[in-house]
Amino acid sequence: MTARIREFLRTRREDGPCVVVDLDVVRDNYRAFSHALPDTRVFYAIKANPAPEILRLLAALGSCFDAASVVEIELALAAGATADRISFGNTIKKERDVARAYQLGVRLFAVDCIAEVEKIARVAPGAKVFCRILCDCAGAEWPLSRKFGCVPEMATNVLEQAHRLGLEAYGVSFHVGSQQTNTGAWDIALASASAIFRECAERGIHLRMVNLGGGFPARYLKPVPGVESYGSAIFRALTRHFGNRLPETIIEPGRGMVGDAGIIETEVVLVSKKSDEDEVRWVYLDIGKFGGLAETMDESIRYPIRTVHDGGEMAPCVLAGPTCDSADVMYEKVPYMLPVSLEIGDKVLIEGTGAYTTTYSAVAFNGFPPLKSYVI
Ligand SMILES: *Cc1c(COP(=O)(O)O)cnc(C)c1O
Repeated sequence: MTARIREFLRTRREDGPCVVVDLDVVRDNYRAFSHALPDTRVFYAIKANPAPEILRLLAALGSCFDAASVVEIELALAAGATADRISFGNTIKKERDVARAYQLGVRLFAVDCIAEVEKIARVAPGAKVFCRILCDCAGAEWPLSRKFGCVPEMATNVLEQAHRLGLEAYGVSFHVGSQQTNTGAWDIALASASAIFRECAERGIHLRMVNLGGGFPARYLKPVPGVESYGSAIFRALTRHFGNRLPETIIEPGRGMVGDAGIIETEVVLVSKKSDEDEVRWVYLDIGKFGGLAETMDESIRYPIRTVHDGGEMAPCVLAGPTCDSADVMYEKVPYMLPVSLEIGDKVLIEGTGAYTTTYSAVAFNGFPPLKSYVI
């Protein structure tokens, strides 16, 4: 909680939950990434938080942007980024969206199969493509599964096809899984990337770039390594696998850039028990899975929660949202310890909520408005 956010919340009069993001923290995070990985270009993953104030700040600081749709590309352009600083990083794109991105000046595209390469070759001639490879995501608290990427053996063929069709086979990308707490996770992926560089070179194709993806953590309940540890682990892995011929590199932080810059303020709507004998109380907030806390799905992300009663006696609670959907329960398998004196009407602060909250909040489920966002 920063002093600026505390002051903002003290004077806020509107009703309902909100997230407040402190741009000073985003600026510090951007600088920390640039410092920890000085030869790497930063492409902020817009989906983590596309608030125009955040995009404008990052554009002014010199950041590039990872966009997943034409709308995100337009947001980055509106924030002052030029098209040469934007990557269309989604591997699943409609051909007409590739064409639109190309018209807007974007020349860098992600692929993970030959069908996607063919779309790009048809409507974005000469563009640069990088092939995403699968990653096992071990150590990540929000893994990205098998939806994106292909096996490394296939990547060589995908890039060769890109080259044959007149595109620039530019490099390889991967994502080690979001909220990745193991700084060694990049090592295995970089071993695969360097093997693809070698195989492509044997076929006369000289790749130049490795996109190291996102995965950098925000601080939730458990401590996480600092950005400098990630920087040095990645640099060691790069030298181990590429020797003196280091490729160009980019990173795509989302959560690590904005997660710890934001705080949600919410209110206790109800505290109850299911039976007189129950030890566990149910605490219902005015925000839940559909109001921005979607990442509590499977209880993956455990946010730090602050109340005015902290320091007093604690007891286990099930924490739930306000909607009439029984899936709208944040923590139940592992109950959350909250103060016994917590009461209806109390304000509760949920920390580390600058990333993946506003974008995940529903428009009007049960008539609840989308999460209100203030960027200060
Ligand atoms: C979501 C996403 C990111 C950001 O991931 P974080 O774990 O939030 O840093 C980066 N790159 C791609 C391609 C993504 O889809």
